[in-house]
Amino acid sequence: MKILVLNAGSSSQKSCLYDINSLENIISPPSPLWEAIIDWTVSSNYGLLKAEAKGNKITLELPISNRQTAIKTMLDTMREGKTKVLNDLSDINVVGHRVVHGGSKYSQAILITEEVKATIRELIPLAPNHNPAHLEGIESIEKINQEIPQVAVFDTAFHRTIPDYGKIYPIPYEYYEQGIQRYGFHGISHEYVAQRTAEILDHEVALHDRTLDSLRLITCHLGNGCSITAIKDGISVNTSMGFTPLEGVMMGSRSGSIDPAIVTYFMREYDYDNRVIDEILNKKSGLLGISGISGDLRTVLKAMEEGDIKGKLAVEMYINRIQEVISSMLPCLGGLDGLVFTAGVGENSAFIREKICDKLGFLGLKLDTEKNNQFCLDKNIATDDSAVKILVVHTQEDWSIARQCYHLIR
Ligand code: ADP
Repeated sequence: MKILVLNAGSSSQKSCLYDINSLENIISPPSPLWEAIIDWTVSSNYGLLKAEAKGNKITLELPISNRQTAIKTMLDTMREGKTKVLNDLSDINVVGHRVVHGGSKYSQAILITEEVKATIRELIPLAPNHNPAHLEGIESIEKINQEIPQVAVFDTAFHRTIPDYGKIYPIPYEYYEQGIQRYGFHGISHEYVAQRTAEILDHEVALHDRTLDSLRLITCHLGNGCSITAIKDGISVNTSMGFTPLEGVMMGSRSGSIDPAIVTYFMREYDYDNRVIDEILNKKSGLLGISGISGDLRTVLKAMEEGDIKGKLAVEMYINRIQEVISSMLPCLGGLDGLVFTAGVGENSAFIREKICDKLGFLGLKLDTEKNNQFCLDKNIATDDSAVKILVVHTQEDWSIARQCYHLIR
């Protein structure tokens, strides 16, 4: 089955094509047949397309004025030129879309119908940067071939299992009835890394009887956006992001949780309107806001190493907030079997992993610093006598979407 995955964001359009014939025991992914990305941020006039297949690469500049045409050009690199892997786009059996916001309606992947599109459209106020880009991708495929089934895989769906007491905010109940609740995000990633963790641990003799159904995990997705999820017996029981992806830990340029009265204080004393406050909390806070240097952790870590005081403070705050949120997840799990790190920071920064684990020793968690400093993707990096496993898992959101499409279409 040829499965095209479209992962549309406000600043990029990532895509890949998988050819899957069986999913028996395949949790870790095969290589895609073809991959492409359009980066919309390189220029105000054009987007930069990079496509790759069979070891061949191409780069093209695409006018920004018509994104649907740009997506079509990107998809055409699958059927012509150096990166050709298909005779025709109609050879694609299904297209899977990562959809950031599915509201409270969808708990699993679903075939896209007019009704599903209408729901994605209705949810634009909750995901103004993402849901319009998803609709653009869906309509681009419809224009190419109406017959290809399309599937929406929601980033919010995995968190539908969070109990009411964790989902509802302690504000008047009528607002919950109007849709203000914890939705949670990065669900595709959290779900995938939990499954992969169970698979990795299953190979360890000591935990051979431990399947996902009997594991208490905390998964830390630390990228530009960061979120932490408590997963018990394979289901999400709590997550740090909330009504929007702003809540929770400190991120690259997002504040994470702050006293909500700061917002009303800004309005009253500074006369800031909602746009200004949104900009401050989403784009000018976090690592960037404190360091004044960058929202990119690598740059902030470098500044810290060179003696920058605010850079050091930003990193200390970042680590502290993650430790606080991890600790706050423990009651709903009733203990911990595994702490899992994933995404750009989680997968690549041994320093951050070590510092986070440093103060969590009271959980019986012991990091093997040697393993932590070596290549450790998809590995357990706890010492043999650690009561809690510590894993680094490479998140594979596109592959997870492809798998869900395969199951649905089969
Ligand atoms: P996104 O959330 O946009 O998908 P990523 O998951 O790629 O982002 O994560 C980006 C973050 O990962 C950036 O802050 C980057 O600095 C950080 N990062 C990547 N590699 C490293 C590294 N070796 N050390 C520290 N941080 C890293």
